[in-house]
Amino acid sequence: MLTLALSDPMTDTRALGIALGASEVVTYLVSPTGLKRLRTALELDRIDPRALNPAVGGPELLDGARDPNVALFELLLLEAIGQGASDVHLERYGDQTRVRLRVDGVLEDSGRFNLKAEEHAHLINILKVSSEMDITEHYLPQGGRFSRSAGQRPMDLRVQIQPTFDGENAVIRDLSSATDAFGVKDLGFPDGLADVYDRLIDEPNGLVLITGPTGPSKTTTLYAALHKLARDTNRKVLTIEDPVGYSLFGVPQVQTRAGFGFADAMRSFVRQDPDVIFVGEIRDGDTALETMRASQTRHLVLSSIHCNDAVDSVQRLRDLGMAPSSISSELMAVASQRLVRRNCPDCRILDTPDETSLAEVFPDGVPETARLLRGTGCGRCHARGTLGRLPLLELWVLDGIQRSAIAASISVHDLRRMALERGLVPLRARGAKLVESGEVSVAELRRQLSAEQLGPQ
Ligand SMILES: [Zn+2]
Repeated sequence: MLTLALSDPMTDTRALGIALGASEVVTYLVSPTGLKRLRTALELDRIDPRALNPAVGGPELLDGARDPNVALFELLLLEAIGQGASDVHLERYGDQTRVRLRVDGVLEDSGRFNLKAEEHAHLINILKVSSEMDITEHYLPQGGRFSRSAGQRPMDLRVQIQPTFDGENAVIRDLSSATDAFGVKDLGFPDGLADVYDRLIDEPNGLVLITGPTGPSKTTTLYAALHKLARDTNRKVLTIEDPVGYSLFGVPQVQTRAGFGFADAMRSFVRQDPDVIFVGEIRDGDTALETMRASQTRHLVLSSIHCNDAVDSVQRLRDLGMAPSSISSELMAVASQRLVRRNCPDCRILDTPDETSLAEVFPDGVPETARLLRGTGCGRCHARGTLGRLPLLELWVLDGIQRSAIAASISVHDLRRMALERGLVPLRARGAKLVESGEVSVAELRRQLSAEQLGPQ
């Protein structure tokens, strides 16, 4: 008996049955996505246990190739690869586990895994053992990382375990998925911005900040800079991170821990004679102060800060207690970044958004040359309508006049207006260009940028 799963109902199954010598043919019609998932699941059988990296993990994993729970973990990773996911979320609710995947920045339920309490607990244990966490700790959050192959694909995984009322949750991030575009030139920045960013990294001292939501985009932009600096044998780079994102050859990377925060690291770093310091995030006054000091003592400092847009970072630094004169003399540039999902090239069609949406994206009217498109969903994009993402970047490079204004405590509102007058292209305008050329849909841009940023500035 031949059992066939088909995504195309017109397939000639009788001919197949004859060709394979089957006396009976049973067919199941499945969606293209369902077929892809089946293939992912079946490829599991072909994995050679020796292909799994025996150098990592404890004894449980060394003998794990025959363990059904390890196979389940393997299947989870393969599903993530098959769907092009950057993160896998395991969330326990009552007696159920919700498995979600983040694909192109958006979380999606994976209806495919129905985990029993026991299997969930085993998966958490596998994650803990592999990333050298305390397997007996069930009440405190833990983090770690490890490398492993799934199928033929090497994966660099970062794991966060978070205990909750219903059990331990886990988030697994595939760091290897984002390491492909590591050059500044590969970031996909629009016209000339890559060169500006490149030149900033060559400066001997000053503070360069990146703002934007936590996620791979911000990290990739910062790491592109670090990657370039790592190849420069004439400069010493040190990083303090929470946690270390990607490992970089030629750059000593330090991770924060209890009692050793960003500011502590900065204080010890200056005695290590670095030229460049990367601080994961400026989130308290202490770190902000040490960052300013490092810049004043002729170091190039790269960091990220949490705020709404590039100009807003000045207010954030003020709120953290920094003097206007220090901000004005040290802050060199601020980049604000988002990622927008690109329309799938195989299924995009002409789009007719409603007037309100159009007015938000194009406050001055839709340009005549605009070609508005949206994806409808096809096999290539797993019925999502989008395929991959494009960076949206607002790069604010301060000039003398803006520095004087900051030193004179100008309001952020006036500073933003001044920056726009002096050539800053805001996120909204960058996004409108992508919509105009049909790369991104109106709905996607609206989803990414808040109404405030879309409004006329
Ligand atoms: Zn498509």
